[in-house]
Amino acid sequence: MKFSSIISQINESKFILVTGHIMPDGDDISSVTSLAVGLERLGKTVVGSIDYPVPWYYRNFYGVEKLKTYEQAKDLDPDLIIVVDCSTPDRVGRFQNLLNDRKTIVIDHHATNTLFGGLNWVDSSSASTAQMVYILNKTLGVPYDADLATVNYLGIATDTGFFKYSNTDSHVFKIAAELVEFGAKPHFVSSTILENKSPEQMKLYCRMVDHMIVDGQLVYSWLSYDDYRANNCSDDDSTGFVSELRSIKNVEVAILFIEYPEGQVHVSMRSKNWVDVSKIASSLGGGGHARAAGCSFRDAKLHEVLDEVIGLVRDFLQGGNR
Ligand code: 5GP
Ligand code: MN
Ligand code: MN
Repeated sequence: MKFSSIISQINESKFILVTGHIMPDGDDISSVTSLAVGLERLGKTVVGSIDYPVPWYYRNFYGVEKLKTYEQAKDLDPDLIIVVDCSTPDRVGRFQNLLNDRKTIVIDHHATNTLFGGLNWVDSSSASTAQMVYILNKTLGVPYDADLATVNYLGIATDTGFFKYSNTDSHVFKIAAELVEFGAKPHFVSSTILENKSPEQMKLYCRMVDHMIVDGQLVYSWLSYDDYRANNCSDDDSTGFVSELRSIKNVEVAILFIEYPEGQVHVSMRSKNWVDVSKIASSLGGGGHARAAGCSFRDAKLHEVLDEVIGLVRDFLQGGNR
């Protein structure tokens, strides 16, 4: 059985590198950190590292300060690499170069996962990777305290939109409740992520609203590199903006086009009830979930990407695709 092979391979390994995806979100940071902390508590030598800067609002969480940069981790020689919350090898960033010639385990909840590990535990019915990490840690016998419980709770909270997205099911509440029993602090997590905005972020938000176009069931907007620069913001500061677009009544699909840094365009897609945005994102070289997906373009012009993607999405909506 796959899960038991994963447990055996972890038990046999001494030096483990845990990594996640570029442009890390709360689930990714929570999963990498919780697994790295957990394995360390079992006496393993563990390095947690993500090939991308960690947004400032996650740095208050236990264990996150111990994550290494790619530069600090690239010459290590682990006997096992565990990749979490990552659907395709390119999303691992430069760590993908290390994947070919050693043991790798992939733990993820994206239906679009390409099963690129030696062993793959992919459960698209799981709302977050963080709850899979919790199950793994508990099976391995990792002791939990309030610090580990809180950082593990983070990923469950952020990937369910703080328990309101359609992926919020009884497993989510059950595991969240167990983590709270171990001392996880839901209010600390919510206030650190949701009530910690800078005034500049609110100004950036106004720009998004200014650029917003509502077209039937579709809403979209964009933020150019100049918008970020003018407000002294980075792409970390627009996390969650696209969900606000989706909150408009009668909207089915919300899309935010983000040019950051200059010449690179990230497309963030959300849907409310029936459009599978992961199909649209996958057709553009990206991926994700039915209700939240994305893709990125290099050496691209913001408005050219916007015109192309919006054309595609209109066809998709008119075709009644699900
Ligand atoms: P976001 O819009 O927040 O950047 O991403 C939403 C979801 O889509 C996340 O689950 C994320 O993992 C996935 N996603 C975003 N961008 C990409 C991409 O470029 N490639 C892939 N494979 N998935 C992406
Ligand atoms: Mn993620
Ligand atoms: Mn996730």
